[in-house]
Amino acid sequence: MDISVVVPLYNEEESLPELHAWIKRVMEQHKFSYEIIFVNDGSTDKSWDVIEHLCSENPEVHGIKFRRNYGKSPALFHGFERAEGDVVITMDADLQDSPDEIPELYRMITEEGYDLVSGYKQKRYDPLSKTIPTKLFNATARKVSGIKNLHDFNCGLKAYRKEVVKNIEVYGEMHRYIPYLAKNAGFSKIGEKVVHHQARKYGKTKFGLDRFVNGYLDLISLWFLSTYGVQPMHVFGLVGTLMFIIGFLAAACVGIFKLIALYNGGEYTLVTDSPYFYIALTMMILGTQLFVGGFVAELVSRNSQERNKYQVEKTI
Ligand code: UDP
Ligand code: MG
Repeated sequence: MDISVVVPLYNEEESLPELHAWIKRVMEQHKFSYEIIFVNDGSTDKSWDVIEHLCSENPEVHGIKFRRNYGKSPALFHGFERAEGDVVITMDADLQDSPDEIPELYRMITEEGYDLVSGYKQKRYDPLSKTIPTKLFNATARKVSGIKNLHDFNCGLKAYRKEVVKNIEVYGEMHRYIPYLAKNAGFSKIGEKVVHHQARKYGKTKFGLDRFVNGYLDLISLWFLSTYGVQPMHVFGLVGTLMFIIGFLAAACVGIFKLIALYNGGEYTLVTDSPYFYIALTMMILGTQLFVGGFVAELVSRNSQERNKYQVEKTI
């Protein structure tokens, strides 16, 4: 099979028939063999009935129904597990992404050898409150992930070589960082294609402004996991030790100042009068805590199922 289209959706009943007809038209025009996997993420409207109806009339349409709303990432994860096409395309269900982009995305993966091609909504039809933070968010994501050529990490329209989706685990709200997940899994040929974007036709957006807060926190976790996840002691131990050394030196200063004062027969001073006393106290406590934190993190990571999971590309 050439293409699997994975569509995560949450309360998008009005868009589904139109989206299906559009994808079908494009696929038939280009003579692709394909399947469409609709993942119903606990919709409370009639989305599932629409999907059941589409499935009964079209053998290439499949549906997965979650018992409740889990989020876009779990929906993508299950769609990826089910996908059988050589190229897997993800798109939003709200008709903001255009199925007309599919043939070119497919070509970039199969002919130009990309592992992943992300859509770039250069001209967006979203409110300013969303587009401005998005720019900032993408700049940070570029910096942290080291994928310098992507402008739109969170674009719903993306194409993947099948291998990629079978070897990454999209969990929590990590759908924003799939290119970063792919890069961490060793898929380095990541490209971008400017795609046409439309205003939402039906329904309303499912993500509020908290997406930016959560997005940043997720980015920090992902960065930490990919850099120090296996050896957390390397960072906690280092910072802890440095702090402890500063604390120790400060304590030494306190002692030396006191001795000098005593030797010179000057005024009797309390150690608590010295600023170094407080530096010593704080640094030594923080240093020890970081060190212990590092040990605990190390124990956790030793017990994690991921500790010996490496990506083997080929064995002969
Ligand atoms: N979506 C989902 N589960 C959720 C939230 C969203 O499957 O909990 C789907 C939604 O139906 C849509 C896609 O994810 O197909 C993108 O959502 P939306 O259009 O609301 O995001 P935006 O375009 O505003 O970034
Ligand atoms: Mg949308």
